[in-house]
Amino acid sequence: PFDVLVVGGGPAGASAAIYAARKGIRTGVVAERFGGQVNDTVGIENFISVKYTEGPKLAASLEEHVKEYEVDIMKLQRAVRLEKKDLIEVELENGAVLKSKTVILSTGARWRNVGVPGEEQFKNKGVAYCPHCDGPLFAGKHVAVIGGGNSGIEAAIDLAGIVKHVTVLEFLPELKADSVLQERLYSLPNVTVLKNVQTKEITGTDKVDGITYVERDTGAEQHINLEGVFVQIGLVPNTDWLADSLDRTRFGEIIVDNHGATSIPGVFAAGDCTNSPYKQIIISMGSGATAALGAFDYLIRN
Ligand code: FAD
Repeated sequence: PFDVLVVGGGPAGASAAIYAARKGIRTGVVAERFGGQVNDTVGIENFISVKYTEGPKLAASLEEHVKEYEVDIMKLQRAVRLEKKDLIEVELENGAVLKSKTVILSTGARWRNVGVPGEEQFKNKGVAYCPHCDGPLFAGKHVAVIGGGNSGIEAAIDLAGIVKHVTVLEFLPELKADSVLQERLYSLPNVTVLKNVQTKEITGTDKVDGITYVERDTGAEQHINLEGVFVQIGLVPNTDWLADSLDRTRFGEIIVDNHGATSIPGVFAAGDCTNSPYKQIIISMGSGATAALGAFDYLIRN
């Protein structure tokens, strides 16, 4: 069996694997797609000490760094079940069952898509999901935020300080964000809020040039010219496969303590699949290190 089995090969999983392997313990990583969300990113400007890099390049470096150590890497494998017996068992889609003394879950998350024409086509060409990452690219420009929940309104407030104008589009007749966020939003001079509207299309040629929406009460179609669209309708953790095996929040995020420990002794978690409040590369890597050290601590005590 493994001492530490990491499930997920994004920044959190790579960091956990390196920290575990450096303790000289038997370490494995199972990952459906090594590099995780980083593969889908173009410019990365907030990975501290690296002024600029690109997703595929960082993903390749993650793998290269893990390979410096004796880590058993199992790529293109999907975990489908976790169960604690004597050891912790992780079953893969192909039927294989891996056994380990400790497991670190780092299966990440994915942004919910609005699913309108133009979204896929203009990803990284004006369609963005992370205001902390891509906000500065739109300095002085007009952008839209789709989604009037907490994350949408936080994004709109954040962006309003950087861009020229923000238009918020909310499907429902009211914003769902906390009232303190709404008050702050409405106090800003360069924000327009459109409620009860349905986004129909993100338009453009080589990059985004506008958004088309329908006013739900009248059925009238409207178009605004703008340069960027931030989709903020939810980040979904990749944790469905865990079902009720351990404690998760109502959003499905794995609940961890400050050692990365979950509700199952010996099972740790890190990165975007957890209830960590902020989801970023540097944060995932830090929590991957924490989970690996937490797992090592557990091993020397049990
Ligand atoms: P992920 O990167 O999501 O990795 C999850 C891993 O788990 C993958 O290997 C996946 O294949 C695997 N996996 C999932 N389910 C299973 C399963 N059942 N079995 C086996 N393996 C599984 N952050 C920044 O800090 N700066 C940026 O500029 C930035 N830009 C971004 C741009 C885009 C378009 C996106 C989508 C995200 C961006 N982020 C950025 C966020 C950042 O990518 C994430 O916070 C980070 O990748 C999270 O790392 P993670 O390891 O927790 O999860």
